[in-house]
Amino acid sequence: MIKEHCGVFGFIGNNSIKYTYEGLKLLQHRGQESAGISYINANDLITQKGLGLVEEALDENITLNDSKISIGHVRYSTTGKTSLKEAQPLSNEKISIAFNGTITNYFEFGKYSTDTEFILDFIDKDIKEGKSIVSAIKHFMDIADGAYSMLIMTKEGEILAVRDPKGFRPLVMGKIGQNLVFSSEDSAIKQLGGKVIRDIKPGEIIRAKNSEIVSERIENSRVSTCAFEYIYFSRADSTIDNISVYEARIKLGEVLYDKHPANADIVVPVPDSSRPIAIGFSRKGKIPLEEALIRTIASKRSFIMPTNDKRNEVIEEKFGVVENAVRDKRIVLIDDSIVRGNTMKRIVSFIRNAGAKEVHIRIGSPPIKFPCYMGIDFPSRKELIASSKSENDIAQYMGANSIEYLTVDEMIKAIGRETLCTACFSGIYPLRNRYPIDKLESIFNG
Ligand code: 5GP
Ligand code: MG
Repeated sequence: MIKEHCGVFGFIGNNSIKYTYEGLKLLQHRGQESAGISYINANDLITQKGLGLVEEALDENITLNDSKISIGHVRYSTTGKTSLKEAQPLSNEKISIAFNGTITNYFEFGKYSTDTEFILDFIDKDIKEGKSIVSAIKHFMDIADGAYSMLIMTKEGEILAVRDPKGFRPLVMGKIGQNLVFSSEDSAIKQLGGKVIRDIKPGEIIRAKNSEIVSERIENSRVSTCAFEYIYFSRADSTIDNISVYEARIKLGEVLYDKHPANADIVVPVPDSSRPIAIGFSRKGKIPLEEALIRTIASKRSFIMPTNDKRNEVIEEKFGVVENAVRDKRIVLIDDSIVRGNTMKRIVSFIRNAGAKEVHIRIGSPPIKFPCYMGIDFPSRKELIASSKSENDIAQYMGANSIEYLTVDEMIKAIGRETLCTACFSGIYPLRNRYPIDKLESIFNG
């Protein structure tokens, strides 16, 4: 089974496909492995999808089709091999689903190759039995465990926007002119010239037709939104549940300095995602920030390469060092997170080779010790460096003078919300079915 994190976008109104196509490009950071769009043309539900970035996966001519409704999806997996079979949206003749998350108990319900396949089949069966789409979705929400922010388009010309009761992943509703738009992140809506209406609430089902919406909310449980959306995954110009991602990152950096200062001459961010964290750290510590690591444009993503050799090869291509900025200096290197440890180990060695005197690592999140089953692609415990090594051992392995992370409480305080999922740091999974991690690991990493 493949774990994935993804982006979804939907639009009701004229030039619908054009907006969804552009919207997906603005969500490209949420998934670069495949892209797809479903739309309705002359009463047929049509889905096109392909591998790669939006512009590679979908011929831009798709936007010329006349459709007043569409949903789209960008997908990001970890397995290293990607096939069209897993690309979304997933549809039959009547409904189409674009899904961001992971259903952790889908295997209880039959032999499905993906959790998305299970959702489509489950809802389709209920509809065939005469249930309304909303009842079918509620039934699904009753039995499904896990994370899901999803858009379902019906042949009748509706979009249903659904966010799981724990609100693990973001999902936002807005307007562009008079037209309704749905997006994983609000930054995409704003960039298209639209206005954000609000976040879809945890446990909420929005049924939208033309410019009308009806909302229902199933009984709420304790909300548990993914902390990693704030730390790394979302775009810095997004706001999730009324908290600015950029401001959260600045605060992560400020708290990092307050609680884990370092004596150093310069602060260096690992571009791009840790930049606001480094700004917060630098301001608070009054240590100048230097962009001494330069990221190669269009570098590949090291994170998802299938083997460690390949990952290291990509990291070599990804970063250059400004030698004059680091020579004979004491450096604080800031990154948002350490997962396997490949990135940081390579970077410390580049910076040492360029003549740095000391290298101190400060990380804007707690140590990642546990895999994620709620839609982020963290591998099994044996691949997570902090799962088996102490901070001292990690510093030594990296060749750094010191390493410090935020604690979970410091992170919560910095982001400014209590209702966060911290499973990858704490091992406490806010799931209903408490499968032991061993079982989940063997199902999801096997
Ligand atoms: P590592 O090299 O330790 O395995 O990965 C850590 C680096 O990958 C950090 O620079 C962090 O910004 C980035 N990172 C963390 N989580 C993810 C993810 O889910 N996907 C991708 N592509 N990068 C990630
Ligand atoms: Mg990074």
